[in-house]
Amino acid sequence: MATMRVVQVSRPNAAFQIVERPIPEAGAGTVRIKVLACGICHSDSITKEGLFPGIQYPRVPGHEVAGLIDAVGPGVAGWQPGQRVGVGWNGGYCGYCEHCRRGEFFACVRGQTTGVTYDGGYAEYMIAPPSGVALMPADLAPVEAAPLMCAGITTFNALRNSGARPGDVVAVLGLGGLGHLGVQYAAKMGFHTVGIARGKDKEPLARKLGASVYIDSQAQDPAVELLKLGGAKVILATVTSGEAMSAVQGGVAVNGTLLIIGAPESMQVSPLSLLMGCRSVKGWYSGTSIDSQDTLAFSVRTGVRSMNETYPLERVSEAYDRMMSGKARFRVVLTIGS
Ligand SMILES: [Zn+2]
Ligand SMILES: [Zn+2]
Repeated sequence: MATMRVVQVSRPNAAFQIVERPIPEAGAGTVRIKVLACGICHSDSITKEGLFPGIQYPRVPGHEVAGLIDAVGPGVAGWQPGQRVGVGWNGGYCGYCEHCRRGEFFACVRGQTTGVTYDGGYAEYMIAPPSGVALMPADLAPVEAAPLMCAGITTFNALRNSGARPGDVVAVLGLGGLGHLGVQYAAKMGFHTVGIARGKDKEPLARKLGASVYIDSQAQDPAVELLKLGGAKVILATVTSGEAMSAVQGGVAVNGTLLIIGAPESMQVSPLSLLMGCRSVKGWYSGTSIDSQDTLAFSVRTGVRSMNETYPLERVSEAYDRMMSGKARFRVVLTIGS
């Protein structure tokens, strides 16, 4: 029987194990994907540390998957072996629950989460339902595509649904794994793009990524600086500090939005600022497979790419620790297969 290597977590907080398993068959209503690259995302700690209610072990993490369909199960329409595809955090939806019937597929009550409710992309092969699969453009390398399946779609899809229009001031708070993509997408979408981060040393990077204004939040008050520009129609908050989020709130324009995609435990909000300026604070779920497909297509057309550090599958523990250290510039990607 043909086997494959996978990286599994056998129980919460256990070390990664590289094990051989039989290559799974594509069952009814699923496709089998030969994985070529898989990004390592901070959310993989949910699987590693057992933070997801009801998660079952052993489990293979990984929801920034890029690869090729290599087998199609019975009853699957519209997908064929040989297609280049990606799989992201949203691992598929049922299509018939009330949310799905309203087109809110991300909120499906039977929704799957890749690498959490089923085995993900830290593996040579994986199985996925077609509703979780996005087409990957021919001229996008798997290593380039992988991080766009989570960090990319999250920033791209939040920005394109933010209500900001070309020419509006859009600020991106944080210049890490999410933020360095957010600045690029904001600039390519035609926004007057502002990068906000700590320290003067990040300014050249922000400008290289497309920011026309840089605010050093250590030396300047970001809210005051944004108001000098008329306020930000949207501030995309990518950081994991509630304090940093609270500190920019005063820079949101009238009718503007503080759009949250980073996940600190709490933050302070000024109700007076919200009601006096019809401002809002809103969260954004990354998106589903068609949003990922749009993200990949937009990225390849406009040249948006993440900056990546790559590791072979065998060095997964080192790669994961590097990601968790927060020192990676900026995404960590496993290369898999030949
Ligand atoms: Zn992720
Ligand atoms: Zn559903």
